Amino acid sequence: MATAGIPEEVLRNEQLIQKLEEIAKDAALMSGILMRTKETPNGSEVVGFAPFTLFPSPVPKALFQQALAVQVHFNLLVDKISQNPDFLEEALSSTIKVDEFTAKLFNIHRQVLQEGHAQSIVVGLNRSDYMLDQDEDGGTSLKQIEINTIAASFGGLSSQTPDVHRHILKVANRLEERKKILDNNPAAGLAKGLAKAWELYGSEKAVVMFLVENVQRNIFDHRYVENELWSRNIPVIRRQFEDVFKTGSLDQNKRLFVDGQEVAVVYFRNGYMPQNYTSTQSWEVRLMMERSLAVKCPDISTHLAGTKKVQQELARPGILERFLPDQPEVVAQIRATFTGLYTLDMGAEGDETVAMALAKPDHYVLKPQREGGGNNIYGREICEVLEGMTDSSERTAYILMDKIRPCPVHNYLLRPGAPLKLSTCLSELGVFGAYVRQGKEMVMNECVGHLLRTKSSEHADGGVAAGVAVLDNPLLV
Ligand code: ADP
Ligand code: MG
Ligand code: MG
Repeated sequence: MATAGIPEEVLRNEQLIQKLEEIAKDAALMSGILMRTKETPNGSEVVGFAPFTLFPSPVPKALFQQALAVQVHFNLLVDKISQNPDFLEEALSSTIKVDEFTAKLFNIHRQVLQEGHAQSIVVGLNRSDYMLDQDEDGGTSLKQIEINTIAASFGGLSSQTPDVHRHILKVANRLEERKKILDNNPAAGLAKGLAKAWELYGSEKAVVMFLVENVQRNIFDHRYVENELWSRNIPVIRRQFEDVFKTGSLDQNKRLFVDGQEVAVVYFRNGYMPQNYTSTQSWEVRLMMERSLAVKCPDISTHLAGTKKVQQELARPGILERFLPDQPEVVAQIRATFTGLYTLDMGAEGDETVAMALAKPDHYVLKPQREGGGNNIYGREICEVLEGMTDSSERTAYILMDKIRPCPVHNYLLRPGAPLKLSTCLSELGVFGAYVRQGKEMVMNECVGHLLRTKSSEHADGGVAAGVAVLDNPLLV
């Protein structure tokens, strides 16, 4: 158990904790850390607080700064990958033979390439996620879990959580720790990227369209970004695939119109998992938007650049150098965040990976090409899945990754309706990147904030929306 952070005697002071719980929940509601309820996900009459930790969790300052510093390089790397169709084809060729979802995305990518891109502006809003791995010699290092290049969430709500933790620490009379809570405003930075793209598109009446899910519990997270845009006098509309299918079209210049409004930027907060595409119409709509003159956030190739298969291919010797020639320091900075990633492609290399996984399943995570939490396979189940495959080509839908082992810390996870108990927790640090490219020129490339999510160590997988992790703040130590 980590010793830095909030002392154990505070965590075990029951009277204090009870008082803080009540204060914390009210503070969260008053600060707008909101989520719609499971029962009424599409209305705001009844809302609750988004789950969060009672206390901030310790994060070593040097590793935190390392994560922030490498972000602009990840932005650049993702963008370069998205512009390299040969690499994407090579990296994903085995995956798309067996994974239907990735194959469908890839087909759209191919079609757009064949036709030629209508729009040369791209806006990327991503979040690179890390855990702090404990080495055998007692040290910790920053290791990337994944990078999310589509619909990366919680940039809005995480702009509000610092105030709540500051308030709690004031009431708890922990003033030294209170000073260490950082300001954070990813929503503003994400909106800045969208606003820049909107400006470059160059039509004052055109709108930014948030493409949203049918079930919208996390709408307030979007609203923070949306309201930043409105405050810049940039009009925003929210639409689902179905709406765009019914009222969307391209004109002869491929300008995208939805409900009679020209769309300058499509911001995907949906479309990242198979269930999001409820019919073939959703796929038709995705293709239409990708073909259009609207700026996509992200475009289809940037979406593909965020797949776990691409992440694994990047870890091969020489691949980073291919994207970043003459930048050995940048390559080293990126590579330092990689943990072991292994191919499951057909052939000797993949066979070796399987043998390795079967021998020590607890050392690895088996990952399919999915997003949104709850899809990974851990421990004994890795053996069951690998051994249970009827055709060994099925394995190429997955990658294998070293399991990262962060240091557990005590904290309380606050969830509506859940009884309070001291939990042993693990944290995951996310860093938000925002960039805009026009043709060959990067016109914006920034690190725009962070997100700390914490879960009980009983859970192997994560995700706030998946109901496992909760929002948190780093307490730099
Ligand atoms: P998703 O795209 O579904 O979020 P992730 O790769 O982030 O997929 O995995 C989901 C969760 O599983 C993470 O938030 C983390 O809690 C856990 N996880 C993923 N990879 C690892 C790993 N290599 N070591 C330990 N935990 C992991
Ligand atoms: Mg993800
Ligand atoms: Mg994740």
